Amino acid sequence: MGKDGQLTDSEHKCCGVVQDAANKSMKNREKRRNKPQPWIVLKMTIGMTLGIIGYAFYVYIGRFCVPMLRDNTGDLGGRRIGIPFLVIFCLLGLTMLWAYAKVTLTSPGKARDHVDPSPEPVIQNYVPAWFDSESEIGHGPYVPPTQEQHGNGSASQPKSHSAQARVTNGSEKPVQQEDTNVGVMGTLPPVQNARVHAEQNGSAYSNPTGANTGTGPLPNQQPMMFTRKPPPTPALLPEYRYCYKDGFVKPTRAHHCRACGTCILKYDHHCPWIGQCVGARNHKFFVNFLQWACLFCLWTFSTLVAQNVKASQGPNENIDPQEVVVTALSGLFSVFTLALLATQMRLIIMNYTTVESMGFQRTEEREKTVLARLHEWYEFGAKRRTKKQWDKEWGRISKEGNMWWLGSYRRNWEYVMGHSVWEWFLPIGRSEGDGVNFPLNPRFDKDGRWRPRREWPKELQ
Ligand SMILES: [Zn+2]
Ligand SMILES: [Zn+2]
Repeated sequence: MGKDGQLTDSEHKCCGVVQDAANKSMKNREKRRNKPQPWIVLKMTIGMTLGIIGYAFYVYIGRFCVPMLRDNTGDLGGRRIGIPFLVIFCLLGLTMLWAYAKVTLTSPGKARDHVDPSPEPVIQNYVPAWFDSESEIGHGPYVPPTQEQHGNGSASQPKSHSAQARVTNGSEKPVQQEDTNVGVMGTLPPVQNARVHAEQNGSAYSNPTGANTGTGPLPNQQPMMFTRKPPPTPALLPEYRYCYKDGFVKPTRAHHCRACGTCILKYDHHCPWIGQCVGARNHKFFVNFLQWACLFCLWTFSTLVAQNVKASQGPNENIDPQEVVVTALSGLFSVFTLALLATQMRLIIMNYTTVESMGFQRTEEREKTVLARLHEWYEFGAKRRTKKQWDKEWGRISKEGNMWWLGSYRRNWEYVMGHSVWEWFLPIGRSEGDGVNFPLNPRFDKDGRWRPRREWPKELQ
């Protein structure tokens, strides 16, 4: 340290070196994190999975069924029981392997096969993402949208929507500017301000359910709008879909997989058990695999448990330790596959992916926070009524508020799983669509913003 508290030259240099080293190590770490996994590492788990299945086949057939058939004796019975056990096990196991082959050999669909590289988007303006706390402040009172804004969505607006990503001035952080779209969708003034407003003006904020009918302020009342505020981000504009790692505009619903090192169509998640991603083209087979894996594990588990319980009650207590291992493994995988199957089936009937479901969770959480600000913690009825009112004005968050909602659970299910019952349960057929273009929920404008019910097409209102 110098006399006047300033750093000396050598200290400056030293700090610089330390800073450089820190930056370099951070960059390297980032590089390593973004490096796709080598092919052999990705596919190694397939060998492991097949090894576990092979072992289960050996123990169940070789050590459990064969003695029953050969000696016509056993703790559970002789051939009369052994044959059906063996047939059911083989049927479930082979169908599961068929589905496993389909899910591992079918590519989920890579975005780079469908789009050409393009330069980084030019950003002139920044529409804050819905979860930015900044987006909640300073938008002023509600301005009813004009007819022009209503009908044409973005067509009437200046081409100033921008990506939340990079800006042209070279800085990494987006530049925050006044959001021109807030007048259209952002009908909620900052709630904490609204509360203060209400208190200052003595107006009733205890009846938020009546506060916004979507038609403007009630007579003699502050123009307070307590309503749902969906993300103002025009998520479908190309700027919002640019992948900086691949250097192209991703098709809608595609996301970058770090393990695979590329953008995957309708990316759901990267599954190490199948050595690749679950995406547009293999999602159906993934669910088929889970269905059969679940049945296979449950069958193996329950029959082996029955056998071991019987054996432990017998006079010579001959419990095979290998059967115990397979019982434990099948029990574990029963729980795992059942939970995953339930989650995946829910995603499919709702028509959103694992990635998209996180967005809904955040929206729900955010709404809970807003409701907690509006009502006291014990006013459960009032909270429910407010939410109901919002659902009336907008539709429900994960249904009408889902950009890809097709109108019914069945329609969503059939879009992915196919139209015949055979396709629902067997790894045959394919999902609808090309994985690149998806039918857009007509309750959204063409840039991907959720519109309130009063702006929906007439037949949906
Ligand atoms: Zn990418
Ligand atoms: Zn992946």
